[in-house]
Amino acid sequence: MAEVIRIQGLTFNYGNGTAALKDLNLLVQPGETVVFIGPNGAGKTTLFLYILGLLHHVPHEVTVLGQPLTNHPAVDEARRRVGLVFQNPDDQLFCTTVFDDVAFGPINQGLTPEEVNGRVSRALEAVGLEGYERRVPHHLSGGEKRRVGLAGVFAMTPEVMLLDEPTSHLDPRGRREVIRLLRDFSGTKLVATHDFELALEVATRVVLLHKGEIKADGPPLEILTNESLLKASGLEMPLVLRYFMKLQETQSTDCTD
Ligand code: ADP
Repeated sequence: MAEVIRIQGLTFNYGNGTAALKDLNLLVQPGETVVFIGPNGAGKTTLFLYILGLLHHVPHEVTVLGQPLTNHPAVDEARRRVGLVFQNPDDQLFCTTVFDDVAFGPINQGLTPEEVNGRVSRALEAVGLEGYERRVPHHLSGGEKRRVGLAGVFAMTPEVMLLDEPTSHLDPRGRREVIRLLRDFSGTKLVATHDFELALEVATRVVLLHKGEIKADGPPLEILTNESLLKASGLEMPLVLRYFMKLQETQSTDCTD
């Protein structure tokens, strides 16, 4: 398969003059799980929205699944093949029932009612929400809304998923459930997160964004344990990783004794 995403020299400024992305270059290969870390305002959400033409109608600097996004049909096709899970589930859920929200994508893909029903059932089963079809999305808990949002994307059977802060506002059990779902999805994934443990569990590669620029791009452990690199971007190594590093240091000292 061709490379999944190629971005060349992408610079994006919001209408108020905020420079959100600066000369960004990125190549994502099939099967990768690329986790984007960076402080608030680094440009992670902007990057995901931009890739799917949600900020700039025809994102010329972006090629998705071998197709340069140079016209509206190419952008529409990319949106059919790439699923975006929004940071805030309330931005994703706008129907009056869970069924309608999950069915929205498959209906727009032109599937028959039988196919739509099948996709919705399988997607709700995958996220553990069988029987929720007639529930009102806005009356669900944060974790349940997150899972409905994921089901809506799964129902489109995307080849690629972009997930913006998929574990935010979840309790430990909900968080584990989302991590399991991510691990089960075999397609290419781009994940924006502050959750370093999630990054360690799912990433094949970590990209550190700061002020709209890529500051580092490489193996997860190498980046997530580089204290000076993280500090320079206003990030902190979590306690659990500090402990892990200490343990490794002790073990290597023991070996050389
Ligand atoms: P992150 O997802 O890493 O927190 P964002 O992509 O949300 O970062 O933001 C990148 C920069 O763009 C920040 O400086 C933010 O304030 C700015 N920004 C985000 N959305 C808008 C908007 N709709 N209008 C103007 N500036 C925005």
